[in-house]
Amino acid sequence: MDATPHWSYSALNTYLQCPMKYAFRYIEHAPEERSGACFAFGRAFHAVLSERAIRGSEFTLDDAKENFFAVFKAETEAAGPALTYKPDETFDGCVSKAGDMLSVALESWQDDYTVKSVAESFSVTIPGVERPLIGEFDLVVEEGGKEPCIVDWKTSGSRWPAGKADFERQATAYCYAYRVQHGHTPLFRYDVYTKAKVPQVGNWYTVRTEDELTRFAELCRQVERCVNAEAFYRNESQMNCGDCPYRDRCRKGGVK
Ligand code: SF4
Repeated sequence: MDATPHWSYSALNTYLQCPMKYAFRYIEHAPEERSGACFAFGRAFHAVLSERAIRGSEFTLDDAKENFFAVFKAETEAAGPALTYKPDETFDGCVSKAGDMLSVALESWQDDYTVKSVAESFSVTIPGVERPLIGEFDLVVEEGGKEPCIVDWKTSGSRWPAGKADFERQATAYCYAYRVQHGHTPLFRYDVYTKAKVPQVGNWYTVRTEDELTRFAELCRQVERCVNAEAFYRNESQMNCGDCPYRDRCRKGGVK
């Protein structure tokens, strides 16, 4: 990603989840104390789907499994001693689970004839915000033969509940960026692959209204003002702190 100062959906979301966590990650660039294997899994799975979108239907399940193994191995090795598995997780178990999920992904692939772009990067300005908002659309397709639709791939431990996609801030950020870059607001679709015993894919469509995009821009202005004022307080909760990669450091004293 761009080394010049910028906002990403992930940075915004981290600040909104816990400002102290934001400071550790984006101000201090503190090393992670622990890094769940699920993140390496998600990145590797994502890399394979991107490869599938680029190479088309020639890309086989064996290619996908081989690709996953290579990326997952590199990701887990890069995490070093910080890497943590859940009690019932192992490297081989993750590889096997990914194989089952990739089989579902390739069988249910629906975007070969409608692709507009794969891994399209964006950098847009938001009025009143100093830093640009940057990111990358996993895939953009033409829904119904004409309407642009951003597709984002996710892995999840369980099936998404109905309505979740409508509140996902990432979809709002990406629709905002697409509208700035292309002049109109697209549809958004999450393809969510579940790690269930029998993996499934859920296609969750959502749209963003003009008011939602306006509120998103206002939120960005507010977050940037807070960061510029160094408002890095702790937002302690079981959900936030349970697997926080900076928990030990936070308990000892917070940011410098
Ligand atoms: S341990 Fe909790 S309060 Fe501390 S940085 Fe992490 S999420 Fe924030």
